[in-house]
Amino acid sequence: MSLRILSGRPFAEAIQAEVAAEVAAIKARGGPVPCLAVVRVGEDPASAVYVGSKVRTTEELGMLSEHLHFDENVSQQQVVKAVTQLNERDDVDGILVQLPLPKHLNEREILELIDPEKDVDGFHPVNTGHLMQGYDSLVPCTPAGVIELLKRSGVEIAGKHAVVVGRSNIVGKPMSMLLLQENATVTICHSRTKDLPAVTRSADILVAAMGRAGFITAEHIGDGATVIDVGINKLTDASQARELFPPEIADKRVSSIGEKGSTLIGDVDQKAAYQKAGAFTPVPGGVGLLTVAMLMKNTVKAAKMRRAI
Ligand code: NDP
Repeated sequence: MSLRILSGRPFAEAIQAEVAAEVAAIKARGGPVPCLAVVRVGEDPASAVYVGSKVRTTEELGMLSEHLHFDENVSQQQVVKAVTQLNERDDVDGILVQLPLPKHLNEREILELIDPEKDVDGFHPVNTGHLMQGYDSLVPCTPAGVIELLKRSGVEIAGKHAVVVGRSNIVGKPMSMLLLQENATVTICHSRTKDLPAVTRSADILVAAMGRAGFITAEHIGDGATVIDVGINKLTDASQARELFPPEIADKRVSSIGEKGSTLIGDVDQKAAYQKAGAFTPVPGGVGLLTVAMLMKNTVKAAKMRRAI
């Protein structure tokens, strides 16, 4: 069976073009320009890269952005004050607090403080509650991106067996709810699932969101399944890279380890996916690209809903 590589790039570009067109239309009507505020604490290098990309893309699509960067030692009170002020400002449509936060901060209190109407990450209990009840809401960007990718690449979801490995509030649980909304029959797996390979093998659509490099192997994948790899992990061992990547990719990945010290890999053994899957999202270049695109879409959606523009 031939494998379809589901690259995220064309879909991410299409979504961003749609957002840019919507922003232009709002401006043409004399409406306010949607604005995304991003709060970042400390110097985590990955967070800095993610926030940079979010702010840059917001501006590229014609929207406004604000980047509030706090020192690692900022107090809970200072972050609470900043989020409260963003909540109160009418010109701010979306508020995103980049995770993870330093350990001394109360992440839950901060996320629950964000006005649900401005909660573009979709993590507030009001929005997760609406998702659970099947109402339109601001939905977490990564799982929302997976649904867009499946739909836009013509993968049928209704009536299919979707298995999600991982039950986090950020990916696994909202992913499962969205697949259910699309009328899949959904199974959620986690670290206590018994005989995981038997469960995942029965999936028409398998979503891996565990944070374990190359964990999903050939024994986990049913013939011809659509395999969505959400994981983002760093691989530093060249011999492991030879095992986990198909020969046509392995050389490049091994030299990347030699040059940069690591290469990115998802939760799926790519060699196994190439052998057994019918369709597969690569890492990098798959689901990750859609996350920022969906954040942009959520920002315009939040602006339109709250300000009736
Ligand atoms: P979490 O660590 O919060 O959750 C991991 C989940 O995987 C848990 O529910 C855990 O089960 C489950 N799990 C771990 N080990 C096993 C196992 N051996 N068998 C079955 N289930 C297992 O991670 P996140 O959900 O935040 O992220 C998952 C991955 O997705 C990470 O690699 C992350 O980097 C990536 N990610 C990618 C994004 C993107 O834009 N592409 C965005 C967000 C995340 P249990 O609950 O029992 O502990």
